Amino acid sequence: MSESYLHFLWQFQYFNKANLQTTDNELVEIIKIGRLNTDSGADFQDARIIIGDVEWAGAVEVHLKSSDWDIHKHQNDASYQNVILHLVWENDKPILRKDGTKIPTLTLRERADKSRLQKYQSMMESKAEMPCQNQFQDVDDIKKLSMLDKVLMKRLEDKSVIVNHFLEENNQDWEETAYQVLAKNFGFKLNAEPFLNLAKNLPLKILQKHRDNLSQIEALFFGVAGFLSNENNDLETWDEYRLNLRKEFQFLTSKYQLQDKILGQHEWKYLRLRPANFPTVRLAQFARFIHENANLFSVLIHLENVKSFAKILKVKQSDYWIEHYVFHRKSEGKVPTLGDSSAENVVINTVVPLLVSYANQKDNREYLEKAIRLLEELPAEQNNITKHWQSMGLQIKTAFDSQGSIEWFNHFCLSKKCLSCNVGVEILRK
Ligand code: SF4
Repeated sequence: MSESYLHFLWQFQYFNKANLQTTDNELVEIIKIGRLNTDSGADFQDARIIIGDVEWAGAVEVHLKSSDWDIHKHQNDASYQNVILHLVWENDKPILRKDGTKIPTLTLRERADKSRLQKYQSMMESKAEMPCQNQFQDVDDIKKLSMLDKVLMKRLEDKSVIVNHFLEENNQDWEETAYQVLAKNFGFKLNAEPFLNLAKNLPLKILQKHRDNLSQIEALFFGVAGFLSNENNDLETWDEYRLNLRKEFQFLTSKYQLQDKILGQHEWKYLRLRPANFPTVRLAQFARFIHENANLFSVLIHLENVKSFAKILKVKQSDYWIEHYVFHRKSEGKVPTLGDSSAENVVINTVVPLLVSYANQKDNREYLEKAIRLLEELPAEQNNITKHWQSMGLQIKTAFDSQGSIEWFNHFCLSKKCLSCNVGVEILRK
Protein backbone atom coordinates (compact mmCIF):
# COMPACT_ATOMS: atom_id res chain seq x y z
CA MET A 1 0.00 0.00 0.00
CA SER A 2 1.24 3.47 -0.81
CA GLU A 3 -0.05 7.01 -0.44
CA SER A 4 -0.02 7.30 -4.24
CA TYR A 5 -2.55 4.46 -4.39
CA LEU A 6 -4.79 6.40 -1.98
CA HIS A 7 -4.37 9.50 -4.16
CA PHE A 8 -5.45 7.37 -7.10
CA LEU A 9 -8.50 6.04 -5.25
CA TRP A 10 -9.56 9.55 -4.26
CA GLN A 11 -8.78 11.13 -7.61
CA PHE A 12 -10.89 8.60 -9.52
CA GLN A 13 -13.27 7.99 -6.63
CA TYR A 14 -12.67 4.24 -6.78
CA PHE A 15 -14.20 3.25 -3.45
CA ASN A 16 -17.56 2.26 -2.14
CA LYS A 17 -19.45 5.49 -1.46
CA ALA A 18 -22.61 3.93 -0.05
CA ASN A 19 -23.45 5.44 3.31
CA LEU A 20 -20.17 7.31 3.38
CA GLN A 21 -19.31 8.37 6.94
CA THR A 22 -16.43 9.84 8.89
CA THR A 23 -14.91 7.89 11.77
CA ASP A 24 -17.29 9.95 13.99
CA ASN A 25 -20.30 8.69 12.02
CA GLU A 26 -21.05 11.96 10.28
CA LEU A 27 -22.43 11.56 6.74
CA VAL A 28 -20.08 12.64 3.95
CA GLU A 29 -21.09 13.92 0.52
CA ILE A 30 -18.32 14.78 -1.92
CA ILE A 31 -19.17 17.69 -4.18
CA LYS A 32 -15.70 18.38 -5.58
CA ILE A 33 -12.66 16.17 -5.02
CA GLY A 34 -10.22 19.09 -5.44
CA ARG A 35 -7.10 19.37 -7.52
CA LEU A 36 -4.04 17.19 -6.95
CA ASN A 37 -1.28 19.32 -5.48
CA THR A 38 2.34 18.34 -6.13
CA ASP A 39 3.79 21.36 -4.32
CA SER A 40 3.96 21.92 -0.58
CA GLY A 41 0.69 21.87 1.35
CA ALA A 42 -2.13 19.33 1.48
CA ASP A 43 -2.57 16.75 -1.29
CA PHE A 44 -5.84 17.96 -2.85
CA GLN A 45 -6.71 21.66 -2.86
CA ASP A 46 -10.04 23.41 -3.44
CA ALA A 47 -12.24 20.47 -2.51
CA ARG A 48 -15.88 20.91 -1.48
CA ILE A 49 -17.43 18.38 0.85
CA ILE A 50 -20.58 18.25 2.94
CA ILE A 51 -19.87 16.71 6.36
CA GLY A 52 -22.91 16.34 8.56
CA ASP A 53 -25.00 19.43 7.81
CA VAL A 54 -22.15 21.74 6.88
CA GLU A 55 -20.63 22.33 3.46
CA TRP A 56 -16.87 22.81 3.71
CA ALA A 57 -14.40 24.24 1.20
CA GLY A 58 -10.72 23.49 1.65
CA ALA A 59 -8.08 20.78 1.29
CA VAL A 60 -7.96 16.98 1.60
CA GLU A 61 -4.84 15.40 3.09
CA VAL A 62 -4.01 11.75 2.44
CA HIS A 63 -2.07 9.40 4.71
CA LEU A 64 -1.68 5.67 5.21
CA LYS A 65 -2.26 6.08 8.95
CA SER A 66 -3.93 9.04 10.65
CA SER A 67 -0.96 9.27 13.05
CA ASP A 68 1.23 10.19 10.03
CA TRP A 69 -0.29 13.66 10.42
CA ASP A 70 1.72 14.15 13.63
CA ILE A 71 4.78 12.30 12.32
CA HIS A 72 4.90 14.69 9.34
CA LYS A 73 4.41 17.58 11.79
CA HIS A 74 1.43 19.03 9.95
CA GLN A 75 0.00 20.21 13.29
CA ASN A 76 2.59 23.02 13.29
CA ASP A 77 2.33 23.87 9.60
CA ALA A 78 0.07 26.79 8.62
CA SER A 79 -0.41 25.40 5.08
CA TYR A 80 -2.33 22.43 6.55
CA GLN A 81 -4.78 24.47 8.58
CA ASN A 82 -7.26 24.51 5.65
CA VAL A 83 -7.65 20.69 5.66
CA ILE A 84 -11.34 19.77 5.80
CA LEU A 85 -10.96 16.00 5.43
CA HIS A 86 -8.25 13.55 6.45
CA LEU A 87 -8.33 10.56 4.10
CA VAL A 88 -6.55 7.53 5.54
CA TRP A 89 -6.18 3.80 5.00
CA GLU A 90 -6.15 3.16 8.70
CA ASN A 91 -7.40 5.37 11.54
CA ASP A 92 -5.03 4.71 14.45
CA LYS A 93 -5.32 8.06 16.24
CA PRO A 94 -7.73 11.03 16.37
CA ILE A 95 -6.15 14.15 14.90
CA LEU A 96 -6.84 17.59 16.28
CA ARG A 97 -6.61 21.04 14.76
CA LYS A 98 -4.72 23.81 16.59
CA ASP A 99 -7.98 24.97 18.17
CA GLY A 100 -8.55 21.48 19.61
CA THR A 101 -11.34 20.45 17.21
CA LYS A 102 -11.13 17.06 15.51
CA ILE A 103 -10.27 16.87 11.80
CA PRO A 104 -12.99 14.75 10.13
CA THR A 105 -11.44 11.47 9.02
CA LEU A 106 -12.53 9.03 6.34
CA THR A 107 -11.00 5.53 6.17
CA LEU A 108 -10.76 3.71 2.85
CA ARG A 109 -9.56 0.27 3.92
CA GLU A 110 -13.00 -1.30 4.03
CA ARG A 111 -14.27 0.64 1.04
CA ALA A 112 -11.53 -0.11 -1.50
CA ASP A 113 -12.01 -2.87 -4.07
CA LYS A 114 -9.82 -5.84 -3.12
CA SER A 115 -9.22 -7.19 -6.60
CA ARG A 116 -8.07 -3.77 -7.83
CA LEU A 117 -5.71 -3.54 -4.88
CA GLN A 118 -4.32 -6.99 -5.66
CA LYS A 119 -3.78 -6.00 -9.28
CA TYR A 120 -1.92 -2.87 -8.15
CA GLN A 121 0.19 -4.81 -5.67
CA SER A 122 1.16 -7.42 -8.21
CA MET A 123 2.27 -4.65 -10.61
CA MET A 124 4.33 -3.00 -7.89
CA GLU A 125 5.93 -6.30 -6.89
CA SER A 126 6.55 -7.43 -10.44
CA LYS A 127 10.17 -8.13 -11.35
CA ALA A 128 9.46 -7.68 -15.06
CA GLU A 129 11.05 -4.74 -16.88
CA MET A 130 7.54 -3.46 -17.52
CA PRO A 131 5.15 -4.31 -14.69
CA CYS A 132 2.13 -4.15 -17.00
CA GLN A 133 3.55 -6.27 -19.78
CA ASN A 134 0.78 -8.89 -19.59
CA GLN A 135 -2.04 -6.33 -19.69
CA PHE A 136 -0.52 -3.73 -22.06
CA GLN A 137 -2.07 -5.28 -25.18
CA ASP A 138 -5.58 -5.00 -23.68
CA VAL A 139 -5.43 -1.21 -23.34
CA ASP A 140 -6.92 0.97 -26.09
CA ASP A 141 -4.43 2.58 -28.46
CA ILE A 142 -5.92 5.98 -27.75
CA LYS A 143 -4.72 5.77 -24.13
CA LYS A 144 -1.24 4.79 -25.28
CA LEU A 145 -1.05 7.59 -27.83
CA SER A 146 -2.20 10.19 -25.33
CA MET A 147 0.48 8.96 -22.92
CA LEU A 148 3.08 9.17 -25.67
CA ASP A 149 2.04 12.81 -26.30
CA LYS A 150 2.19 13.60 -22.60
CA VAL A 151 5.67 12.13 -22.05
CA LEU A 152 7.06 13.63 -25.23
CA MET A 153 5.98 17.09 -24.06
CA LYS A 154 7.63 16.41 -20.72
CA ARG A 155 10.85 15.37 -22.45
CA LEU A 156 10.83 18.53 -24.58
CA GLU A 157 10.22 20.68 -21.52
CA ASP A 158 13.10 19.01 -19.66
CA LYS A 159 15.43 19.55 -22.60
CA SER A 160 14.44 23.17 -22.89
CA VAL A 161 15.29 23.66 -19.20
CA ILE A 162 18.88 22.71 -20.04
CA VAL A 163 18.90 25.28 -22.84
CA ASN A 164 17.50 27.89 -20.42
CA HIS A 165 20.39 27.18 -18.11
CA PHE A 166 22.91 27.87 -20.90
CA LEU A 167 20.96 30.98 -21.84
CA GLU A 168 21.19 32.32 -18.32
CA GLU A 169 24.94 31.71 -18.23
CA ASN A 170 25.25 33.57 -21.54
CA ASN A 171 23.19 36.61 -20.47
CA GLN A 172 20.31 35.69 -22.79
CA ASP A 173 22.59 35.52 -25.83
CA TRP A 174 20.85 33.03 -28.14
CA GLU A 175 23.70 32.84 -30.65
CA GLU A 176 26.27 31.91 -28.01
CA THR A 177 23.81 29.46 -26.45
CA ALA A 178 23.05 27.74 -29.76
CA TYR A 179 26.79 27.46 -30.43
CA GLN A 180 27.44 25.80 -27.05
CA VAL A 181 24.50 23.39 -27.32
CA LEU A 182 25.54 22.43 -30.84
CA ALA A 183 29.19 22.02 -29.82
CA LYS A 184 28.18 19.65 -27.03
CA ASN A 185 26.10 17.67 -29.49
CA PHE A 186 28.97 17.54 -32.00
CA GLY A 187 30.98 15.64 -29.40
CA PHE A 188 28.16 13.08 -29.19
CA LYS A 189 28.25 10.99 -26.02
CA LEU A 190 31.94 10.39 -25.58
CA ASN A 191 33.31 13.85 -26.29
CA ALA A 192 30.35 16.00 -25.28
CA GLU A 193 32.18 17.43 -22.29
CA PRO A 194 35.45 18.53 -23.96
CA PHE A 195 33.44 19.91 -26.89
CA LEU A 196 31.32 21.97 -24.50
CA ASN A 197 34.40 23.16 -22.60
CA LEU A 198 35.98 24.12 -25.88
CA ALA A 199 32.92 26.19 -26.84
CA LYS A 200 32.86 27.88 -23.43
CA ASN A 201 36.58 28.71 -23.67
CA LEU A 202 36.32 29.91 -27.24
CA PRO A 203 33.30 32.23 -27.56
CA LEU A 204 31.42 32.43 -30.83
CA LYS A 205 32.07 36.18 -30.83
CA ILE A 206 35.76 35.51 -31.47
CA LEU A 207 35.04 33.00 -34.22
CA GLN A 208 32.66 35.42 -35.91
CA LYS A 209 35.52 37.88 -36.38
CA HIS A 210 37.29 35.24 -38.48
CA ARG A 211 34.27 33.76 -40.16
CA ASP A 212 35.68 34.33 -43.66
CA ASN A 213 38.92 32.52 -42.96
CA LEU A 214 38.59 28.76 -42.48
CA SER A 215 42.29 28.31 -41.60
CA GLN A 216 41.97 30.77 -38.72
CA ILE A 217 38.79 29.08 -37.46
CA GLU A 218 40.53 25.70 -37.61
CA ALA A 219 43.57 27.19 -35.83
CA LEU A 220 41.30 28.51 -33.06
CA PHE A 221 39.42 25.22 -32.69
CA PHE A 222 42.41 22.89 -32.81
CA GLY A 223 44.46 25.31 -30.74
CA VAL A 224 42.00 25.72 -27.86
CA ALA A 225 41.27 21.97 -28.09
CA GLY A 226 44.96 21.40 -27.27
CA PHE A 227 46.00 19.77 -30.54
CA LEU A 228 48.51 22.52 -31.37
CA SER A 229 50.32 22.36 -28.02
CA ASN A 230 53.68 20.67 -28.30
CA GLU A 231 52.85 18.26 -25.47
CA ASN A 232 55.24 15.54 -26.63
CA ASN A 233 58.11 17.78 -27.76
CA ASP A 234 57.88 16.33 -31.24
CA LEU A 235 57.46 19.44 -33.41
CA GLU A 236 59.99 18.11 -35.93
CA THR A 237 57.54 15.31 -36.83
CA TRP A 238 54.63 17.71 -37.50
CA ASP A 239 53.48 18.26 -41.08
CA GLU A 240 53.20 21.65 -42.74
CA TYR A 241 49.45 21.95 -42.20
CA ARG A 242 49.69 21.49 -38.45
CA LEU A 243 52.72 23.79 -38.16
CA ASN A 244 50.84 26.53 -40.04
CA LEU A 245 47.85 26.17 -37.74
CA ARG A 246 50.17 26.41 -34.75
CA LYS A 247 51.74 29.61 -36.09
CA GLU A 248 48.31 31.12 -36.71
CA PHE A 249 47.13 30.06 -33.26
CA GLN A 250 50.14 31.60 -31.51
CA PHE A 251 49.18 34.96 -32.97
CA LEU A 252 45.47 34.54 -32.12
CA THR A 253 46.26 33.31 -28.60
CA SER A 254 47.95 36.55 -27.64
CA LYS A 255 45.34 38.63 -29.47
CA TYR A 256 42.44 37.06 -27.51
CA GLN A 257 44.28 36.08 -24.32
CA LEU A 258 43.56 32.40 -24.79
CA GLN A 259 46.63 31.10 -22.93
CA ASP A 260 44.58 29.83 -19.97
CA LYS A 261 41.80 28.42 -22.09
CA ILE A 262 43.62 25.59 -23.81
CA LEU A 263 42.41 22.05 -23.09
CA GLY A 264 44.72 19.03 -22.68
CA GLN A 265 44.82 16.48 -25.50
CA HIS A 266 44.10 13.75 -22.95
CA GLU A 267 40.58 15.18 -22.52
CA TRP A 268 39.61 13.89 -25.97
CA LYS A 269 38.44 10.28 -26.15
CA TYR A 270 38.95 7.84 -29.03
CA LEU A 271 38.10 4.57 -27.32
CA ARG A 272 35.73 2.39 -29.36
CA LEU A 273 35.04 5.26 -31.78
CA ARG A 274 34.93 4.66 -35.50
CA PRO A 275 37.59 6.87 -37.17
CA ALA A 276 34.81 8.94 -38.81
CA ASN A 277 33.76 9.98 -35.29
CA PHE A 278 37.24 10.87 -34.02
CA PRO A 279 37.22 14.24 -32.27
CA THR A 280 39.76 15.60 -34.79
CA VAL A 281 37.34 14.90 -37.65
CA ARG A 282 34.38 16.31 -35.70
CA LEU A 283 36.37 19.48 -34.92
CA ALA A 284 37.19 19.93 -38.60
CA GLN A 285 33.49 19.50 -39.49
CA PHE A 286 32.39 21.87 -36.76
CA ALA A 287 34.97 24.45 -37.92
CA ARG A 288 33.62 24.28 -41.46
CA PHE A 289 30.04 24.52 -40.21
CA ILE A 290 30.84 27.68 -38.21
CA HIS A 291 32.77 29.10 -41.17
CA GLU A 292 29.65 28.80 -43.30
CA ASN A 293 27.03 29.58 -40.65
CA ALA A 294 28.37 32.17 -38.25
CA ASN A 295 24.85 33.32 -37.28
CA LEU A 296 24.07 29.91 -35.97
CA PHE A 297 20.91 30.50 -34.02
CA SER A 298 19.16 32.39 -36.82
CA VAL A 299 20.04 29.55 -39.19
CA LEU A 300 18.75 26.84 -36.84
CA ILE A 301 15.59 28.61 -35.80
CA HIS A 302 14.48 29.33 -39.36
CA LEU A 303 14.93 25.80 -40.62
CA GLU A 304 11.83 24.57 -42.37
CA ASN A 305 12.56 20.87 -42.56
CA VAL A 306 15.08 18.19 -41.73
CA LYS A 307 16.30 17.97 -45.32
CA SER A 308 17.38 21.61 -45.44
CA PHE A 309 19.13 21.21 -42.11
CA ALA A 310 20.96 18.05 -43.15
CA LYS A 311 22.18 19.94 -46.21
CA ILE A 312 23.83 22.72 -44.22
CA LEU A 313 25.07 20.41 -41.50
CA LYS A 314 26.73 17.90 -43.79
CA VAL A 315 29.34 20.39 -44.98
CA LYS A 316 32.56 19.08 -46.43
CA GLN A 317 35.49 19.55 -44.06
CA SER A 318 38.70 21.19 -45.36
CA ASP A 319 40.91 19.27 -47.84
CA TYR A 320 43.35 18.11 -45.18
CA TRP A 321 40.57 16.46 -43.18
CA ILE A 322 39.21 14.75 -46.25
CA GLU A 323 42.46 12.77 -46.22
CA HIS A 324 43.18 12.49 -42.49
CA TYR A 325 41.38 11.10 -39.46
CA VAL A 326 44.21 12.30 -37.24
CA PHE A 327 47.18 14.62 -37.78
CA HIS A 328 50.04 13.38 -40.00
CA ARG A 329 48.58 10.01 -40.96
CA LYS A 330 46.94 9.90 -44.39
CA SER A 331 43.76 7.86 -44.51
CA GLU A 332 43.38 5.03 -46.97
CA GLY A 333 40.09 6.29 -48.36
CA LYS A 334 38.28 9.61 -48.18
CA VAL A 335 37.02 10.73 -44.77
CA PRO A 336 33.21 11.01 -45.01
CA THR A 337 31.20 14.07 -44.05
CA LEU A 338 28.75 13.86 -41.14
CA GLY A 339 26.42 10.86 -41.68
CA ASP A 340 22.62 10.95 -41.85
CA SER A 341 22.09 9.49 -38.40
CA SER A 342 24.52 12.02 -36.85
CA ALA A 343 22.65 14.86 -38.57
CA GLU A 344 19.36 13.46 -37.26
CA ASN A 345 20.84 13.25 -33.78
CA VAL A 346 21.77 16.94 -33.97
CA VAL A 347 18.21 17.87 -34.96
CA ILE A 348 16.80 15.90 -32.01
CA ASN A 349 19.29 17.10 -29.41
CA THR A 350 20.09 20.63 -30.54
CA VAL A 351 17.54 22.12 -32.89
CA VAL A 352 14.42 20.76 -31.18
CA PRO A 353 15.42 21.83 -27.61
CA LEU A 354 16.40 25.29 -28.90
CA LEU A 355 13.05 25.67 -30.65
CA VAL A 356 11.11 24.58 -27.55
CA SER A 357 13.05 26.89 -25.28
CA TYR A 358 12.61 29.80 -27.72
CA ALA A 359 8.86 29.05 -27.99
CA ASN A 360 8.58 29.23 -24.19
CA GLN A 361 10.64 32.39 -23.86
CA LYS A 362 8.75 34.20 -26.62
CA ASP A 363 5.43 32.60 -25.71
CA ASN A 364 5.07 31.61 -29.37
CA ARG A 365 3.62 28.16 -30.14
CA GLU A 366 4.79 28.33 -33.74
CA TYR A 367 8.29 27.27 -32.71
CA LEU A 368 6.97 24.44 -30.57
CA GLU A 369 4.90 23.18 -33.48
CA LYS A 370 7.96 23.36 -35.68
CA ALA A 371 9.94 21.30 -33.17
CA ILE A 372 7.22 18.64 -33.19
CA ARG A 373 7.04 18.71 -36.99
CA LEU A 374 10.79 18.09 -37.21
CA LEU A 375 10.51 15.10 -34.86
CA GLU A 376 7.66 13.70 -36.92
CA GLU A 377 9.76 14.00 -40.06
CA LEU A 378 12.65 12.02 -38.63
CA PRO A 379 12.76 8.23 -38.56
CA ALA A 380 12.54 6.55 -35.14
CA GLU A 381 15.75 5.86 -33.25
CA GLN A 382 16.51 2.19 -32.83
CA ASN A 383 17.73 1.08 -29.42
CA ASN A 384 16.87 -1.51 -26.77
CA ILE A 385 14.06 0.62 -25.34
CA THR A 386 12.32 1.26 -28.65
CA LYS A 387 12.73 -2.41 -29.61
CA HIS A 388 11.16 -3.42 -26.31
CA TRP A 389 8.16 -1.17 -26.92
CA GLN A 390 7.78 -2.53 -30.42
CA SER A 391 7.74 -6.06 -29.05
CA MET A 392 4.86 -4.93 -26.80
CA GLY A 393 2.96 -3.78 -29.90
CA LEU A 394 3.52 -0.02 -29.59
CA GLN A 395 3.96 1.58 -33.00
CA ILE A 396 7.21 3.52 -33.16
CA LYS A 397 7.59 5.10 -36.56
CA THR A 398 9.11 8.55 -36.07
CA ALA A 399 11.51 10.30 -33.72
CA PHE A 400 8.43 11.76 -32.03
CA ASP A 401 7.43 8.20 -31.05
CA SER A 402 10.93 7.03 -30.13
CA GLN A 403 11.71 10.12 -28.03
CA GLY A 404 8.38 9.80 -26.22
CA SER A 405 8.79 6.08 -25.65
CA ILE A 406 12.30 6.51 -24.22
CA GLU A 407 10.99 9.10 -21.76
CA TRP A 408 8.02 6.89 -20.89
CA PHE A 409 10.18 3.88 -20.15
CA ASN A 410 12.92 5.71 -18.23
CA HIS A 411 10.72 7.97 -16.14
CA PHE A 412 7.56 5.93 -15.62
CA CYS A 413 8.04 2.19 -16.21
CA LEU A 414 11.46 1.85 -14.58
CA SER A 415 10.36 3.70 -11.46
CA LYS A 416 6.91 2.05 -11.51
CA LYS A 417 4.99 5.29 -11.70
CA CYS A 418 2.09 3.30 -13.09
CA LEU A 419 -0.50 5.41 -11.25
CA SER A 420 0.67 8.47 -13.20
CA CYS A 421 0.55 6.57 -16.49
CA ASN A 422 -2.59 6.53 -18.67
CA VAL A 423 -2.04 2.83 -19.34
CA GLY A 424 -1.60 1.98 -15.65
CA VAL A 425 -4.72 3.93 -14.70
CA GLU A 426 -6.71 2.18 -17.42
CA ILE A 427 -5.51 -1.26 -16.30
CA LEU A 428 -6.54 -0.53 -12.71
CA ARG A 429 -9.78 1.10 -13.76
CA LYS A 430 -11.07 -2.07 -15.46
S1 SF4 B 1 4.31 3.04 -16.37
FE1 SF4 B 1 2.56 2.50 -17.62
S2 SF4 B 1 3.35 1.44 -19.39
FE2 SF4 B 1 4.96 1.52 -17.85
S3 SF4 B 1 4.77 -0.38 -16.72
FE3 SF4 B 1 3.55 1.10 -15.61
S4 SF4 B 1 1.54 0.92 -16.46
FE4 SF4 B 1 2.88 -0.10 -17.85
